[in-house]
Amino acid sequence: MQKINVTRSSMPSFEEYCEEIRNLWDTRWLTNMGEKHNRLELELCSYLDCENVSLFTNGHLALEAVIASMDLKGEVITTPFTFASTTQAIVRCGLTPVFCDVTLADFTIDADKIEELITDKTCAIVPVHVYGNVCDVEKIEAIAKKHNLKVIYDAAHVFGVKYKDKGIGSYGDASMFSFHATKVFNTIEGGCVTYSNEEYTKKLLIQKNFGMENQESYTEVAGNSKMNEFQAAMGLCNLKHVDEEIKKREEAALNYIERLGNTEGITVWHPQENVKHNFAYFPVIFDKDKFGKSRDEVWEELKNENIIARKYFYPLTSTFECYKDKFNVNETPIAQKASEEVLTLPLYAGLTKEDTDRICDIILR
Ligand SMILES: *Cc1c(COP(=O)(O)O)cnc(C)c1O
Repeated sequence: MQKINVTRSSMPSFEEYCEEIRNLWDTRWLTNMGEKHNRLELELCSYLDCENVSLFTNGHLALEAVIASMDLKGEVITTPFTFASTTQAIVRCGLTPVFCDVTLADFTIDADKIEELITDKTCAIVPVHVYGNVCDVEKIEAIAKKHNLKVIYDAAHVFGVKYKDKGIGSYGDASMFSFHATKVFNTIEGGCVTYSNEEYTKKLLIQKNFGMENQESYTEVAGNSKMNEFQAAMGLCNLKHVDEEIKKREEAALNYIERLGNTEGITVWHPQENVKHNFAYFPVIFDKDKFGKSRDEVWEELKNENIIARKYFYPLTSTFECYKDKFNVNETPIAQKASEEVLTLPLYAGLTKEDTDRICDIILR
C-alpha cells in the first residue's frame, strides 16, 4: 500500500519556481533584504491582514528575536501542549516559563486560569494558536492590559486564519508565523513576526542581523536569522496557490468529520465560531475506555498499514529531559491527558477522498 505521511510539502511547479529565481543570476543579490524578500513582506502584510511583517530564516528564530526585542525579564505564562520551539525560545531568551493548562475544547491556553499564575515577576504571556485553533484573544488582551503584560502569540499553525474578519496576526503585541516545509504555507524554511507598533521594525532588523544598527554601530548581542532570496522566491510562488491548498485541506478535514464525528469514544477536531480556519492539522482524541483502543494502539495499527499519523503534542514540553525536575506536570492535567490521547491524522492538499476514506476505515475497523 502507498505510504501516507502526516503531511506533504506544498510546492509550485518546477517551471514556476525557476522563472521566479531566474533574475538572481543577473542581480547577484542572494540575501540581506533583497527585492524578493521585500516583495514577500508586502504581499504577506496584505494576505495576513496585518500592519507589519518582518521575515526570518525560520519561525523559531523569529520567536526568539521578537521576545529579545522586548527587553523582558522574569516569568512568562505559556502552555506545555505545543511544539518544542515555544518553550525552548522562552528559556533561551533567559526567561522562566510558567505553565498554564489548556482547554479541553480546543487545546489552547485556558484564559480563565492565567490570572492565578501571575506574580510580580510575570512580564509576558506566550499563548499558542495550536492546530490552527484560535486562543481566547479577547480575554487574553483584557488580562494583559490589566496587569501590563506583553502578549506574543506562537502563531506557527494559523497562517491565513481570521478571527472576526481580522487577520489573526493583528492580535496581541506580536505574533510569530512559521513557514517551515511542513506548514500550510512554506518558504522551505522560514517565518515571520507580525506586529502593529512601528518601533519593532528597527528592533527586529537589529535582532536578525548580528545586533547591527548601522555599519559602525552594534547595539545588541544578536545572531543571524535573515531570510534569503531563494526562500522568498518559494514563498512568492506558494502564496499564489495557498487558497486552493487550504480549500483542498478543508475537503479532507470535512470527510474526516463526516466519517469519524459520531463515533463513541472519538472526539474529532471541529471548527470554532467566528473563525476562518486553515485546516492545518486534524487532531483526534481517543478515549480508550469508550473506544476500546488507545491512541498508541491506533497509531500502531495505522503504521502497520503504512499510514504515518503523529502524536502531536506528546510529550509535553514541561516533561522534556532538559527540564528534568523543574516543572510539575500535575499542574496541567488537561494538557497531560490530551498529550496521551491525541493523534493528528494525515492532512495536506494532495490527500484524496480515497486516502481519507482508507484511514477512516482502518480506525473504524
Ligand atoms: C513549526 C513550529 C514552530 C517553529 O517553526 P520553525 O519554522 O520550524 O522554526 C514553533 N512553534 C510551533 C507550535 C510550531 O509548530
